[in-house]
Amino acid sequence: MLRVARVIRIRGTVQGVGFRPFAYRLAHRYGLGGWVGNDEAGVEIHAEGAEEDLAAFERALVAHAPPAAQIAAIEAVDGRPAGLAAFVIRPSDAGQAPTVPISPDIATCQACLAELFDPGDRRYRYPYINCTDCGPRYSIVRGLPYDRPRTTMAGWPMCAACRREYDDPANRRFHAQPIACHACGPAYVFEDASWHVRGDGAIVAAARALARGAVVALKGIGGYHLACDARDRHAIAALRERKFRKERPFAVMVRELAIAESLVVLDDAARALLRSQARPIVLARARSPLPGVAPDNVELGIMLPYAPLHSLLFASGAPDAIVLTSANRSSEPIAYDDDDARASLAGIADAFLVGERPIARRVDDSIARVSLGTPTVLRRSRGFAPQVVARVPEGPPIIALGGDLKNAIALVIGGAIVASQHIGDLAYAAARDACATTVRDLCSIYAIDPAACLIAHDAHVGYASTALAAELSTRTLAVQHHRAHVASVVAEREAYATVVVGLACDGTGYGDDGTIWGGECFAGSVARGFDRIGHLRSAPLPGGDAAARYPVQAAAGFLFELDGLPDLEAEPFAFPPRYRLARELVRRDVRSFTTTSLGRLFDTVAALCGFTREMTFEGQAAMWLEHRARSSREVEGYPFPLARGELDYGPLLQSVAAERAAGRAPGEVARAFHVAVADGLTSLANLRPGLPVAASGGVFQNALLCELLRARLGERLWLPTRVPVSDGGLCVGQAALAAFSARRGQKEA
Ligand code: ZN
Ligand code: ZN
Ligand code: FE
Repeated sequence: MLRVARVIRIRGTVQGVGFRPFAYRLAHRYGLGGWVGNDEAGVEIHAEGAEEDLAAFERALVAHAPPAAQIAAIEAVDGRPAGLAAFVIRPSDAGQAPTVPISPDIATCQACLAELFDPGDRRYRYPYINCTDCGPRYSIVRGLPYDRPRTTMAGWPMCAACRREYDDPANRRFHAQPIACHACGPAYVFEDASWHVRGDGAIVAAARALARGAVVALKGIGGYHLACDARDRHAIAALRERKFRKERPFAVMVRELAIAESLVVLDDAARALLRSQARPIVLARARSPLPGVAPDNVELGIMLPYAPLHSLLFASGAPDAIVLTSANRSSEPIAYDDDDARASLAGIADAFLVGERPIARRVDDSIARVSLGTPTVLRRSRGFAPQVVARVPEGPPIIALGGDLKNAIALVIGGAIVASQHIGDLAYAAARDACATTVRDLCSIYAIDPAACLIAHDAHVGYASTALAAELSTRTLAVQHHRAHVASVVAEREAYATVVVGLACDGTGYGDDGTIWGGECFAGSVARGFDRIGHLRSAPLPGGDAAARYPVQAAAGFLFELDGLPDLEAEPFAFPPRYRLARELVRRDVRSFTTTSLGRLFDTVAALCGFTREMTFEGQAAMWLEHRARSSREVEGYPFPLARGELDYGPLLQSVAAERAAGRAPGEVARAFHVAVADGLTSLANLRPGLPVAASGGVFQNALLCELLRARLGERLWLPTRVPVSDGGLCVGQAALAAFSARRGQKEA
């Protein structure tokens, strides 16, 4: 029989996901000889055997790849047969600089879950069970290549039984770096005021504490969570009070899909998202509210168990729906270090369930929803980080620092844009430290020197991320906030040369002219740059940042220049005194800024519709307004005329105020406003008829607005699905724009 040979190179996320043992088992099935090994670019295979067997092998490599593998490219060329009869796995060598993306953390697989609850299995109820198809990756890696000594499992030598599995190419745990068992691995410890227990008893104790209504700090995959019974309003009230989190929605973890179905409305796409390996928090419409969990919100964030610990808690008597929220105070980064957690959560948690396996870096839960029928990531973190989100033409390394709100960073290395996990709000010192740490951390994983990188950052001179850019390197590039938003949408499609209309709508971003932008329209491409061709009519904004917390303060600015308004301090508006004080600031031109923010226009209309109190989390008034609008029948939109590139909110706000004064239901007014905004944005998009419309910015988290825009623009509308639409996606847009500006710079030089 004629033997031929093939050399196959596979790039993508193919290390630490069981790819080598998979190739090994496949080669045995087809009777091939040769070897498989990791190298700095991915996996390399040399295989020889009968031609048809080799062809079948190559097809199966792609078709049946391990669930966590993400194949970016596969290249195969003919090689020379060396007469190899056996097929072996070569150990990895730590030689050249790694460019291999490390896998994200993966939810517990079905095979491991079956063992977890099999009393005959030696890992029965072992909370750190995992295999090559599942388990922690990014959250335990300290360096590459991905091998046990370079993970947080380095301190637990394998027992003989684990070692046999690790060394057996036919075993599901062959080279599963974090494997462990009751005999050799870490355990959980339960601590409260009165006692201390280690092992299975710790998990049972935590489950009982949850059932009793306690707030328990749980160490998970990427950090600590605070947990309590989602149906216990007293526990939730205690958690809110201790955590200084008045109204911001909490996420809920449920025991199984059936419980999720009873709490929220799910379609097939949402079910698939819930069960996906990344196991994000999925936002879906609540069937009946859980009191105190997501006040005044029609959506509820739900997730399924993703760590063995979670499954064990539910099996040990924890309530079937538990609040699971990042353990921190207010908006600080999630706690992941045991000592930090004990110190910072002491006044919040009644008890601690501390896992002995260290966490290498904090990785928050991701958030996603099904938007216009498409799974859409709103916060890219656990299960997604540090995946490659897009590719740009190869060039020198770039670090993109994102913005100060919802900060996340990106690295461009070898043409791959790698996005970090969610970091947080850089107004907090702990988050600024976390941002700098994440830069150092990713640079060390990918073996690049920050000082040798081009550093892209937001153009805001006062941003902490801008200051960090200057500390990291002398080569920096300021990228205007809203152009970065638009570029992030284009990057996801890798349509860098395509000329598009960009709609960037959010609450705040530093504009070219130093004013606060947020209702912007651009034309251009990532490769050539974007020109601003339109925007919301500008308005005065009294008090700067405080205006983002008080809708009536934004209203004082937007309504200031309008004539014929009813008395807004009288019913039905009843604006509080803050409104009059803010008007005074505008009239005297004290601490008043200029803005084109569409986010603040939403706040203004929310105030006119009845949201006159302080917001306790970002975007609250706009969400409140969207939910009012959803409850209304379909109505005509208010006028929102476009002239000389300016969308004039004057006639729009006059209509809103007049109709509210005349007693029209707030839901209908809110609906007519949403229709007007969709019409207005469509007229901006039609400044360049026929071009794709790349839309990004926090305003587009509004699902109703997206539906109305889709109805008007059809397939022209490009919304991001992998990159967050909020400021969490800025880093990706900055990275893409920086990559092309570096190319232009090279060509000119
Ligand atoms: Zn598994
Ligand atoms: Zn063991
Ligand atoms: Fe923004």
